Amino acid sequence: MRIVAFTGAGISAESGIPTFRGKDGLWKKFKVEELATPEAFFRNPKLVWEWYDWRRQLIAKAEPNEAHKILVKMEEEFPDFFLITQNVDGLHQRAGSKKVVELHGNIWKVRCVDCGQESYDYRTPLPEIPPRCEKCGGLLRPGVVWFGEMLPLDALEEAYRLSREADIFIVIGTSGVVYPAAELPYVAKEHGAQVMEVNPEKTPISRIADIIYEEKASTGLKKVYEYIKEKYGSKG
Ligand code: NAD
Ligand code: ZN
Repeated sequence: MRIVAFTGAGISAESGIPTFRGKDGLWKKFKVEELATPEAFFRNPKLVWEWYDWRRQLIAKAEPNEAHKILVKMEEEFPDFFLITQNVDGLHQRAGSKKVVELHGNIWKVRCVDCGQESYDYRTPLPEIPPRCEKCGGLLRPGVVWFGEMLPLDALEEAYRLSREADIFIVIGTSGVVYPAAELPYVAKEHGAQVMEVNPEKTPISRIADIIYEEKASTGLKKVYEYIKEKYGSKG
């Protein structure tokens, strides 16, 4: 029994990290085209880095919540469990999840735009903005996927494969409008998976969901977990 969980910004909402399109979404205060595109970055790297530095500080102060922890428990309990995330906050890994496919990169990664050198930098706040490459002095950029950019091919292929092979596909806290990630629930459904959704609001994915928990990630996922155990036993 292959179980795949697919998460978006909503799973970190209960950790105090703002979502992108929700009621208190980041984009209410900022214009996306000024901050999350390659053009914006090369126009004004300092502004973009100030925003990322602020988000990194928020994330550093946050703790994984009950929903992240339930996914860790599911990974430990069900032998064929995988997690695909659109989140860049790294909270799944901090909670203890190991089998995580990151579709949109990671906010703690930095990459040199000149020599391509990539590394993790966990300092908050950063001592210098914009940060510079230690090797060549080039400009460093956040290791995340911006609007208009390709997703990392290895992660995307892995995510498609997992989705095709899923028996249960659980969608948690994503608005389901950012492609190609938003396609995965449809791929899973087409290949026979039972699709479950946890989200306090309806999304385009709700239309294909077999079971919907219209509530917060923590309480909704608890019900998903209990449902799977009840129906399939502890081996998933
Ligand atoms: P989103 O903000 O579009 O959607 C969040 C969803 O979470 C909403 O459907 C909302 O109803 C739901 N939600 C809110 N509180 C919840 C809770 N407590 N429990 C469960 N669900 C809750 O976020 P998304 O779907 O992850 O966006 C997709 C991707 O778009 C992002 O992962 C990101 O990669 C990308 N994006 C990136 C940037 C950037 O800075 N690079 C900016 C915007 C979007
Ligand atoms: Zn460099």
